[in-house]
Amino acid sequence: MKVFNKPQIYIVGRQTLSLAEAQRFLTDEGTSWATDTTIDGEKLPEMAGRVCYMSFGDKQGRKSNRDYLGHILEVGHGSVLEHTVFNFIFTGISRSLTHELIRHRAGFGYSQLSQRYVDERDANFVMPPAFQGDAALEGEVKKFCEDTLKLYGDLTDKLADKYSTPKQLVDFALREEALTEREPGRFGFADKGKPTDEVKAPAGNRTVAEWTTLVEADKDAVKYFKKATLTARRKTAREAARAVLPNATETKIFVTANARALRHFMELRGDIHAEAEIRALACDLCLLMKKEAPNLFGDYEVVTLPDGSRRTKTSHRKV
Ligand SMILES: Cc1cc2nc3c(=O)[nH]c(=O)nc-3n(C[C@H](O)[C@H](O)[C@H](O)COP(=O)(O)OP(=O)(O)OC[C@H]3O[C@@H](n4cnc5c(N)ncnc54)[C@H](O)[C@@H]3O)c2cc1C
Repeated sequence: MKVFNKPQIYIVGRQTLSLAEAQRFLTDEGTSWATDTTIDGEKLPEMAGRVCYMSFGDKQGRKSNRDYLGHILEVGHGSVLEHTVFNFIFTGISRSLTHELIRHRAGFGYSQLSQRYVDERDANFVMPPAFQGDAALEGEVKKFCEDTLKLYGDLTDKLADKYSTPKQLVDFALREEALTEREPGRFGFADKGKPTDEVKAPAGNRTVAEWTTLVEADKDAVKYFKKATLTARRKTAREAARAVLPNATETKIFVTANARALRHFMELRGDIHAEAEIRALACDLCLLMKKEAPNLFGDYEVVTLPDGSRRTKTSHRKV
């Protein structure tokens, strides 16, 4: 069992500008465009903004990308920032953090580790910042997490066993479509995709009651049904047993966000009123984004507070 004290952020995707297509557009329009940034994520909103007024060529006004985007931030024309999108994976964060994160709807997309498909027996945990550095309190939290994992494992096994009566095995096989209707009210095994290597699927079309009777009498049929329903039974057990996992359970989430939405997130969750763990994430993200695209995020500051925690600050809120 691993205990995380801080989040990990991976920037796994960034946008690219198609130079050939951008040039084709400029040629078709009989104009040109020169920008000084090398970062495609900064070029795209500049180009988007310039399309609004066709301010290319000799109408290019502000010459540098920094000036151009700086003006966008100044006047709050934030919609052009939506054209730049970043992809992240966050790990080492708790389920309570992601519960808050996914409240950010506009301009965000999420794909999160499933606690139904993934067995959480090997779960890791996140130590809330307030406990960090206090050995006694950290010890209590860790002990609770260890005990909880044991309970989770026991409950998962007990439930998975409970779902092994003949009737339940047949129900699960029907639910998983391992048993499919061949003629009204009569079911046979689906031909494709189900495990047949260890035990051969029982042959024949039977009613549900007849399949149940077969499983009661035939050990090989039991083995086959158990294998064919394993994933479904485990998923059903896990989805119930996860109820005992704490908010501190570590999770992983793939996040896609546009630059405008990210700014909003870093302001709300980097604020002093935000919860400590998500505030730390917002501050780390802010520092990364300042390097990643300085003309989009360079107006932010990350300030250290007297208690050692941090907050974000900008004079351009909610553009
Ligand atoms: C310190 C703090 C404490 C909080 N406490 C609580 C709490 O106790 N309980 C709770 O339930 N939540 C709480 N929240 C969550 C908060 O209410 C928001 O759900 C969350 O911060 C997302 O903000 P948002 O809606 O602005 O962001 P997004 O959903 O990303 O939206 C961005 C912006 O788009 C616009 N927008 C989005 N959707 C709509 C819409 N449907 N209609 C009109 N405009 C829209 C708004 O201008 C919005 O600000 C808290 C948040 C913070 C930062």
